[in-house]
Amino acid sequence: MKSFRWTSRVAPPLAFPRSMPLQMSLLMLGTLAFSSVACTPDEVEDARPTPTGVPVQAIDHAGPKPHNILVIVIDTFRADRLGRGLTPKMDAFASEATVFNRAVTTIATTMPAHASMFTGLAPNRHGVRWNGDELADSNLTAVEILRDAGYETAAFVSKTRLLTQAGFHQGFSILSDPRNGRAPLNRSGEEITAMARDWICGEPRKPFFAWVHYNDVHSPYELNDFAKEQRGDYAGVLAEGATGKTLLANSQEIASSPEDMRMLNALYDGAVLGVDRQIGNLLDECPGDPILEDTIVILTSDHGQLLGEHRELLHGGKLWEQALRIPLIIRHPTARPGLTADERVGIADIAPTLIDLGGQNIPAGLQGRSIARAIFGEEIEERVYVSEVKREGADEEAALGPADLAVYDGHHKVIRKAGEVKIYDIANDAEEVQPIPTSQSQQLIERSQVLMDAYSQADTGAVSVKREELDPSTIDELRALGYIE
Ligand SMILES: [Zn+2]
Repeated sequence: MKSFRWTSRVAPPLAFPRSMPLQMSLLMLGTLAFSSVACTPDEVEDARPTPTGVPVQAIDHAGPKPHNILVIVIDTFRADRLGRGLTPKMDAFASEATVFNRAVTTIATTMPAHASMFTGLAPNRHGVRWNGDELADSNLTAVEILRDAGYETAAFVSKTRLLTQAGFHQGFSILSDPRNGRAPLNRSGEEITAMARDWICGEPRKPFFAWVHYNDVHSPYELNDFAKEQRGDYAGVLAEGATGKTLLANSQEIASSPEDMRMLNALYDGAVLGVDRQIGNLLDECPGDPILEDTIVILTSDHGQLLGEHRELLHGGKLWEQALRIPLIIRHPTARPGLTADERVGIADIAPTLIDLGGQNIPAGLQGRSIARAIFGEEIEERVYVSEVKREGADEEAALGPADLAVYDGHHKVIRKAGEVKIYDIANDAEEVQPIPTSQSQQLIERSQVLMDAYSQADTGAVSVKREELDPSTIDELRALGYIE
């Protein structure tokens, strides 16, 4: 028997049913958040903890083969780029799938958002707050559950050093780059597609779970043919493309210049066209073997990107829709194609959905919920969602304190940032141009304030955080890519 330190906590939900009385929501966030279920090593027989103590159900290999599962994450991909001529391959895929029109991330930062996707928890519970934090082993990921159930698991990740080397290897038997090797900081979409297809279309095997991560629409942006064509006689700071460093250093100027913003959008859209081709190549059926026909495919992103809206660029530290809204499309081999779901869903719903689709028991205490029923045309509960952000300009110490937050409540979004509260009707004002007068929304403010306070109070702080030691050359590369200032 392996021994380890592990204490399960009953997690406060990330999302509440909208019909739930405030008292009940508070009870879930407050009281339950602090009642912990102690679990001594003696009580844990298996090497893999399951918070419910429910053993993982092994796949019955004598029975019908479960569907494979493929999760595609396009880092920094804005949901509003779909369906406007830039993404023919993804649009064709969406027409065969269920499109979730109102999906949001828990935080517009790569590592914590991915942590939510894999654990079903918000940053206040999984503890990853920054790029550079490591997802602690005590987190049980959906991948670990599927692997233990008998899935063959593989990750093809363009940002190996940021992701698989920082705790996101958990549950994967195969990694595109060795966890402890000197992997490139960023692999191109072509490389990732080739690696993933070699494996997916390889010899017959157990049902698989594959995670394919593209970084092509994250800065730096190259001047590809599309962007060059759009450039015209523009000769500004983005004329030859944009590194993260350029965007960080010139964000004020770019975001206040219509010409720079037009060029930035052209660069971003050029990258979107490129990654769309990769998705098309990835999803081409395997030669001579209809493997993908029998595969559940999920396409999403970890967060979006500001391209000059609100006079801001990039995504870290943002609560605007351009940063928090994400695409979420799920194609299931036996589901009716062409469905849409308009209920609000979140990135932390992905982990329980994966576990559910893999036929496994969802551990108790996750903040996300399975949205699998929506793929089969059923309605799912409308819920309130919370997203968080680091404080811009805060030092490390302050950053681990209470975060700025956004609450999604029906068609309203309440943003608390630097002590200021703003409310938007995002159904009718998706660009968040005109805040609703707070004097007309006292009830909404009070309700969201209570939820925000409870979210902050339920924060486990640094319990599961292990700060990764970054070497100086990695820090330089991260700076060049715009991850750190
Ligand atoms: Zn990201």
